[in-house]
Amino acid sequence: MTFKRIETPCPAFSCRLSAIALLFLLMVLLAACGQTATVADEPRNATAEASPLNVVVTTQHLGDTVANLAQDRVELTVLFGPGIDPHTYIPTEGDLQILQNADLIFYNGLLLEAQMGRVFTQMEQRQATQVVAVAEALPAERLLLWEEEEGYDPHIWKDVQLWIAATEVIRTTLMERDPANAATYEANANAFVAELEQLHQDILTQIERIPPELRVLVTAHDAFSYYGRAYGLEVEAVQGISTEAEASAADIQAVAAILIERQIPAIFVETTVSPRTIEAVMAAANAGGQAVRIGGELFADDLGEPGTPEGTYIGMMRHNTDTIVAALAGE
Ligand SMILES: [Zn+2]
Repeated sequence: MTFKRIETPCPAFSCRLSAIALLFLLMVLLAACGQTATVADEPRNATAEASPLNVVVTTQHLGDTVANLAQDRVELTVLFGPGIDPHTYIPTEGDLQILQNADLIFYNGLLLEAQMGRVFTQMEQRQATQVVAVAEALPAERLLLWEEEEGYDPHIWKDVQLWIAATEVIRTTLMERDPANAATYEANANAFVAELEQLHQDILTQIERIPPELRVLVTAHDAFSYYGRAYGLEVEAVQGISTEAEASAADIQAVAAILIERQIPAIFVETTVSPRTIEAVMAAANAGGQAVRIGGELFADDLGEPGTPEGTYIGMMRHNTDTIVAALAGE
């Protein structure tokens, strides 16, 4: 698996300039491809046996899942690394080159990768590239609405049963796109889903250790609604579903009031979000007489470093659950 490291985000103005430049570059590249389309437009599985599929994914949890299903049968590139905020990430020139060379692209969708929509639309128009928005392939009745006009909450991987459904979308796509390796993908998917089912049960069991009145999860941005629904926690986010909006002083006071009233002992910072908002909530609750501490750091929209336990989807979910349970159960 190739892991692409990403530099820190640039200031908004220069980002806008570079986004325009990138779009221009993309149009030029697409135009160039149009002139030499004979190779790129071959039937999709014509090269399956000759060389491995070139698969590109956005998030680390997609990367880990494809790696579990495909192992060495595909060439895999993961665009986002630890600490990357997918809501605000603007694709680089290097990303466009990587996407251009992909046979198959998996992304989350539901506007998680909010700044990449136009790039995916352009890639979909290429005959040689298949583009799959995994979360958008799930049945709508299993998704959470955020606000009517804003569509669905994209953070589906926080509910392990929904991630099993997403894994099935990935499995089916790989099997159809690369029939020569279909049996491998299917067997690996069965083994991975069995592990995910165990993970789901383990999380349910662990959450039982938190006294029912303390099953309140306070974080900065609203990445945990699916987790809360699946595992029986009330979720209070200061900042809304995307990190693009800033929390207001009124938001901070409202969440602090909940902590004081319900006597919640701990709140959580997130790996992809500045801790400033959560520290302000903690200070406001402490000033109101409720001793609140930072219960630890949760992985919001990323995984840990590759090669560590938290660098896998399962390890990340176990880390988050262990951290929440230890802080709220007072263990
Ligand atoms: Zn998020």
